[in-house]
Amino acid sequence: MKICKNCVLPETFPNIRFNEDGICNYCLEFKSKKNWQEEKQKYLNRFKTIVKEHKGKQPIDCLVAYSGGKDSTYTLYILKEQFNLRLLALTFDNGFISPKALKNMKKVTEVLDIDHIIIKPRFELLKKIFVASAKKTLYSKKALERASSICTSCIAFVKSLSLKTAIEKHIPFVAFGWSPGQAPLLSSVLKTNPLLIKSTQKVIEDALRKIVKDEIKPYFLESHHFKKPELFPYLTHPLAFLEYNEEAILEKIKQFGWERPDDTDPNSTNCLLNAFANKLHKEQFHFHPYALEIAGLVRTGIMSREEGLKRLNQPENLEIIKWVKKRLGL
Ligand SMILES: [Zn+2]
Repeated sequence: MKICKNCVLPETFPNIRFNEDGICNYCLEFKSKKNWQEEKQKYLNRFKTIVKEHKGKQPIDCLVAYSGGKDSTYTLYILKEQFNLRLLALTFDNGFISPKALKNMKKVTEVLDIDHIIIKPRFELLKKIFVASAKKTLYSKKALERASSICTSCIAFVKSLSLKTAIEKHIPFVAFGWSPGQAPLLSSVLKTNPLLIKSTQKVIEDALRKIVKDEIKPYFLESHHFKKPELFPYLTHPLAFLEYNEEAILEKIKQFGWERPDDTDPNSTNCLLNAFANKLHKEQFHFHPYALEIAGLVRTGIMSREEGLKRLNQPENLEIIKWVKKRLGL
């Protein structure tokens, strides 16, 4: 299989093209952009300015979508210790959080002294959604360039529950721990509004409604939320504009008692469903759902190409996949 000689994107990735040197169009586009560090600084400054404007005006400054993985753990630390924000950590329990990740969350939120809410929807509901996500092509191909179908359903819950909670609790910021490869710098500081959220929510809600109808309602924004544009928060993923070094992150969060779970796949430090979702995605679309993220990390020099290829080629843990399938009744 042909793979970009600069990053790790394979020829099976949607809309990829290679030049005569074997470099992909994503890499060529990135090269033509302005100085990366300068761009990052711009977003960091923007974030600092907005934080200054809103900090301390509400009982909680920022809600952090907390998966218990290394990146969101580090995001909690940064926002609490470096930006001095009062935080609320919110975890969406999809029924597949690694027990070690749950322990990590407990330790970290206690050490950093942060309020923590865990929302765990009924498993029967989640099961229906995950099974449908596994079987059908629920989402557009474009949506599945960045994540598997199961992951996309799960992230939809995380996003809408975070947003909904922030609006209800008058919290001006919602932060995510996306790595610089997972989400673009361009959207790293973004003011939301009803129109924007309505249109993004619709795509997912329509898909999920086909499976579970009105049962989806409690987890998404409703018409009364959309009537309060002044309460719509800023979304941010600070790891896009801060220094990102995986080793340094792991070193830091170990200080809070965080331990790497040994039951998850190499691309996740919290979710047991991920290995199954990845395997399915590779069978259905012939590229790894983490390819774009890892390519981004390699392109920006955060990860070596060798390490990136290693992660994408590592076989899934079959024991875990077997357990997941059983739990989903597949
Ligand atoms: Zn490339």
